[in-house]
Amino acid sequence: MTNKDYSRRKFINRCISSGGLFFGGLLLLNCGEKNKSSKIRNDNTKQNSSKDPCNDLTKISDGEIKKRQGLGYVKQSAVPENSCSNCALFIPAKADEKCGGCILFKGPVYAEGHCVQWAAISS
Ligand code: SF4
Repeated sequence: MTNKDYSRRKFINRCISSGGLFFGGLLLLNCGEKNKSSKIRNDNTKQNSSKDPCNDLTKISDGEIKKRQGLGYVKQSAVPENSCSNCALFIPAKADEKCGGCILFKGPVYAEGHCVQWAAISS
């Protein structure tokens, strides 16, 4: 083994170890940011729930939240004549509650809301 080989090997080892440290650090930073954003989301939801119970998703599972997002649910319909209140899948609010629901996912639903599954009520 020549002196030149030794320095090349040393150089490669240093590159690998510093690269590992770099990517490990990035991974840790990324995990920290993810936890922060999750906490911010929960805080926002809790804040919103105190103001508006129809926006309270604190008791709703992530899977159900993804369902409503996947259906493109919005709390205010962009189509004036089509909203949750006149959708065949809408569950009207009970007498002591402010928010309705939907057959397709769990959680509160605004009567003014809308999603891609809107269906006309047949008479
Ligand atoms: S299917 Fe869509 S439009 Fe109909 S009640 Fe559910 S969320 Fe509203």
